[in-house]
Amino acid sequence: MRELLFFNQVFKEKIWGGSKLKAMFNVDEGISNIGECWTVSAHLNGLSTVRNGSFQGLTLKQLWKEKKELFGSIEGDEFPLLIKFIDAGEDLSIQVHPDDEYAGQWANGSKGKTECWYILDCTSNCEIIFGHNASTKEEFEKLVLQGAWSLLLNKLTVYKDDFIYVPSGTVHALKQGTMVLEIQQPSDVTYRLYDYDRVENGKPRQLHIKESIDVAMVPHWIESYEPQVCKGNGFTKTVLIQNSFFKVIKYEINGAMAQTQDEPFVVMGVIEGSGSIDGIEVKIGDHWLIPYDYGCYRLEGKMTIIASNTVPKTY
Ligand code: ZN
Repeated sequence: MRELLFFNQVFKEKIWGGSKLKAMFNVDEGISNIGECWTVSAHLNGLSTVRNGSFQGLTLKQLWKEKKELFGSIEGDEFPLLIKFIDAGEDLSIQVHPDDEYAGQWANGSKGKTECWYILDCTSNCEIIFGHNASTKEEFEKLVLQGAWSLLLNKLTVYKDDFIYVPSGTVHALKQGTMVLEIQQPSDVTYRLYDYDRVENGKPRQLHIKESIDVAMVPHWIESYEPQVCKGNGFTKTVLIQNSFFKVIKYEINGAMAQTQDEPFVVMGVIEGSGSIDGIEVKIGDHWLIPYDYGCYRLEGKMTIIASNTVPKTY
């Protein structure tokens, strides 16, 4: 089908949210501290609706159920990705997400949450929490129960344009001043290990110590992926990651690029600059889906795009 599907955004207020997303999307609703903007989601906690064309007003969840052909009729009971912007106006809680198996059993059949971040902005010398220093589960548990956070938690300095893979089981936290584009499995299950003893409406937010200890990966270990770069006339294409959860590609367009959509579907979003796709103007924040069988498309302008899809499993 020769039609691109653009989506409306869903904004989420968070105690740690900042003001950058409000400015970026020109939000004038009476909502402050926007922590997240869900741009592509078929999750009930923030459904994307189509804002243009013949599917206008329908949710991505409905399309996934009723119009399978848009997604190359790939298997799966849920649309496999959830994409959002996150603006950490303050430090986020130290957290860890379950994998499919644990979430399926203990979180009402939910999917697990493997995610990845593209760092859009951060303060200088910005450190996030990423991984930990325990070498056994016993040591991990002991340090958690003692609240020995500075001994346990590992810090990582991040820079604009870093790409960070966060598989389920990774202990992590974004820190104040970071803004990221997150591509993740369609799940909203977060186990909070430590929340800096903060209060929300007079009460501390719930912690999930047992679940966090259960699902934390010990020792911390992340498989590395060497990005593959391909330079063309007017564009640079970088494959940032490709695994069984997702394939994420960065396109830096400075001129024009044309290629054929040869995946079951592709989701694209502009993270910097502006331009057009097949003559339709796009700017920072816009996200759209290119359906299966769309054919050739042309990106033009001066902009950076993050494209993602899932790689169908081969048996
Ligand atoms: Zn997370």
